[in-house]
Formats: sequence, C-alpha cells, structure tokens
Amino acid sequence: MLSVIFVVDLFLGTCLNLSQEGTMEKYVCTDCGYTYFLDEGDPTADIHPGTPFDDLPDDWVCPDCGMTKDGFRVFT
Ligand SMILES: [Zn+2]
Repeated sequence: MLSVIFVVDLFLGTCLNLSQEGTMEKYVCTDCGYTYFLDEGDPTADIHPGTPFDDLPDDWVCPDCGMTKDGFRVFT
C-alpha cells in the first residue's frame, strides 16, 4: 500500500507544478505560433528573462516571422 501512496503523492506534486506553470505570463504570435515566455525573455533581441511583455520595446517583433507586438495575444 505504501507504493500507492507514493504514486498519489507524485501525482499531486505534478499537478501543483502544472498549476504554477499556468500562472506564467505567455504571449503567442497569431501568425506563426511563436510563444513569448516571461521567464525566458527573447535572447535573440537581448530581452532578459523576467521582462513582462508590456515592457518589451515597441519596435520588438516576433523573432520567427517579424510580427509586431500588436499581433500577439495572451495565451492561457
Ligand atoms: Zn511570429
């Protein structure tokens, strides 16, 4: 029976991790599907990890297709 408890524990732990990830800010490009992750930033444009999408420079564009910020939508 101990192993069952262990598995349930593991399952609950995974759910908690997933819910934490769910709160992470993500924006997705409506053209190509590129996703901007708050905690990754955009190394190709010198955007440091932790930079909120709203704080990106106005001339920032999608690194994959060149879409402007207006073409991004919050991804939930
Ligand atoms: Zn794009």
